[in-house]
Amino acid sequence: MKIKEILSEEGKEQKISAKGWVRTRRGSKHVSFIALNDGSTINNIQIVAEGDSFNEELIKQITTGSCISVDGELVTSKGSGQAVEILANKIEVLGAADAEEYPLQPKKHSLEFLREKAHLRFRTNTFSAIFRLRHALTFAVHKFFNDKGFFNLHTPIITGADAEGAGEMFQVTNLDLENLPKTSDGKIDFESDFFGSKTNLTVSGQLEAELGALALGQVYTFGPTFRAENSNTSRHLSEFWMIEPEVAFADLETNMDLAEEFLKYCIQYCITHNADDLQFLDKRMGDEERNLKKEERSEMGLLERLQFVLENDFVRLTYREAIDVLRNSKPNKKKKFKYLIDGFGADLQSEHERYLVEKKYKKPVIITDYPKGIKAFYMRMNEDNETVRAMDILFPTIGEIIGGSQREERLDKLQARMEEMDVDQEELWWYLETRKFGTCKHAGFGLGFERLIMFVTGMKNIRDVIPFPRTPQNAAF
Ligand code: ATP
Ligand code: MN
Repeated sequence: MKIKEILSEEGKEQKISAKGWVRTRRGSKHVSFIALNDGSTINNIQIVAEGDSFNEELIKQITTGSCISVDGELVTSKGSGQAVEILANKIEVLGAADAEEYPLQPKKHSLEFLREKAHLRFRTNTFSAIFRLRHALTFAVHKFFNDKGFFNLHTPIITGADAEGAGEMFQVTNLDLENLPKTSDGKIDFESDFFGSKTNLTVSGQLEAELGALALGQVYTFGPTFRAENSNTSRHLSEFWMIEPEVAFADLETNMDLAEEFLKYCIQYCITHNADDLQFLDKRMGDEERNLKKEERSEMGLLERLQFVLENDFVRLTYREAIDVLRNSKPNKKKKFKYLIDGFGADLQSEHERYLVEKKYKKPVIITDYPKGIKAFYMRMNEDNETVRAMDILFPTIGEIIGGSQREERLDKLQARMEEMDVDQEELWWYLETRKFGTCKHAGFGLGFERLIMFVTGMKNIRDVIPFPRTPQNAAF
């Protein structure tokens, strides 16, 4: 039985067996108390090993990190701290863990240290909780869209387009880098590369998802994306997972409503299904923040913050309104921002986003209608010819969690933007054909999955919410 099930068997005394990894063992010569965890829940089951069948040799092998199997009786616990425990009849050590060498001792380790032990960090309470929540969120994403009649579309990971418009790409090749084939004019001959053309890892599945939406109506992607940006921040990974819904006949209003409902659904799903894990992480965040200076502490605990997002409407304002608010804000007037806001056209930096979300409105904020110059070519042009129907959703402590837009469905306007922004129209001929044949209004967005997990778990570094993070200079494990 899984420990999660065993712990809910209160009052039903029975023969039972369990397998798992030892968190701690304490006790005396005559009796040992073992805290056992099998990953099914944050909670451990207590194993009591008493009597002659447990010789010293066996007990010595039951150390933190070792893997054991236990047969015994489930009984009401005599001690405090747990309702039930297992009185062991037989214990078998399936895999010992040398106590001198095992890196995870029953004490607090730093997150940095645990990143270097990413192969074992699943065995800590913190990381097992995070990865159970990551699973719950994955499941919630699929359930949300499935229940709404969306179709999951698997868009390619290797792409021939290098104009997806979302940042630097990783090239995919099997050419011999020591001996590159050249064309007659001295350039690299990609015709002799594996795919017969230059290829990259995708930075977004959006363009292909649009093709799906303009036939299947509503689709979503949920896959890995890759960005070769050298931004070593706590919110960027080189390999991250993105969820990208795309909806035919939708405008930006519908898009915002969908995104807000979606985020709230995912958060509620975790509160309903992963209460133990969230409670643990709530306490963890509280403990962590007690060591911070008062002004660096969050105003709300983790659970309180999640509840708060569920209960409040997101604030919606245009870029122009946001710029006015920022220009007249205290930190701007007192020159406290690193990048001062002087007017229309400025790109919002994370300091500005955090001011709006954490200081000014104290709620998630959706900013719409950005200047065309700082957004991608496929966003729908507004009447003013200066702004596009873009939306960014900003979350407390995270900053941008979603970026989306109503797409430009008018062929002439789309081509004009591509011209202006120097995007290769020949390469994207297939994208342009959807505007030529049966085009319609449509919209969509991209949610960075790890940023959502950061918000739900309260983790402050994105490297701690993906099993094996890929960042500049690091692809270990
Ligand atoms: P940012 O300004 O934070 O770099 P972006 O504008 O480049 O984000 P988009 O291209 O709109 O982001 O991608 C959609 C979403 O994907 C973002 O809102 C964010 O949640 C997430 N995202 C973008 N880049 C990364 C990254 N390098 N690592 C993790 N998540 C990312
Ligand atoms: Mn970016």
